Amino acid sequence: MSLCNACPRNCNADRQTKTGFCGADQNIKVAKAYLHEWEEPFISGSKGSGTVFFSHCNLKCVFCQNFKISAEGFGKNLSQDELYDVFVSLEQKGANNINLVTASHFVPYILPVLKKFKANSNLPIIYNCGGYESVDTLKMLDGIVDVYLPDMKYVDSRISAKYSHAPDYFEKNVLAVKEMKRQQPKDVFCDGLIKKGLVIRHLVMPNLVDQSKKVLDWIADNLGTDTFVSLMAQYQPFYRACEFDEINRKITEREYNRVLQYTEQKGFENILCQEMTSSDEKYVPSFDLQGV
Ligand code: SF4
Repeated sequence: MSLCNACPRNCNADRQTKTGFCGADQNIKVAKAYLHEWEEPFISGSKGSGTVFFSHCNLKCVFCQNFKISAEGFGKNLSQDELYDVFVSLEQKGANNINLVTASHFVPYILPVLKKFKANSNLPIIYNCGGYESVDTLKMLDGIVDVYLPDMKYVDSRISAKYSHAPDYFEKNVLAVKEMKRQQPKDVFCDGLIKKGLVIRHLVMPNLVDQSKKVLDWIADNLGTDTFVSLMAQYQPFYRACEFDEINRKITEREYNRVLQYTEQKGFENILCQEMTSSDEKYVPSFDLQGV
């Protein structure tokens, strides 16, 4: 594998001998694979989403609820054949889809596995990511990924630098989301489950309602108000959030409702809401190598 420029960090790292910003080397690493019941209803369905949590991350947000795997790198190295077996096992357990969580930094390594699985299965493949993606890497997934599920976190570079170490987050995020939309221009559902399309997740954060509005403005102006938008209320001050007073708490109901009202005022037709009770540790996956 050549020097790594798989994401906008463009580390140019030789991952055979060292790691880049994401912390990943040449080994595919996974922390958990199971049937996830708490994704959006049209993703989890009644049987669960076949969710594969990849270790490491190219963002390392200071509030990450999955910091044990994203920042601390917990997980188990898998060969390509072993990862394939994980996908097959999830399908045999009845998964509605294969849901790749934060696989951005492994795309060149898992591509052969995805192609082989795609050739042998009709399950939709979901690419669930933080939204800091390289367009060239996404193009490798054209024809393989059925549903894109990216975050759009914030707009201002000062904010994204502070909380995600990525001053160019929004600049790269919008290019990535446009490429996802190009690949999957139409949302397709069958029996209440999504089969193809684009769903944008936005995590409402404390004291950042203005950022939520800017994200929604961009989506409305560039993708249209028929875009599926999942407004997440589950923020909790995990990991290093306690170092930042302004985000060191859960969101208030008023903050969430202000964002929801704005979304409705903008004319969005497909809004997925979360209960305020979703901000509870019991909904955070425990990382225990289940299924790997
Ligand atoms: S995937 Fe990792 S090593 Fe490669 S460019 Fe991104 S952060 Fe750097």
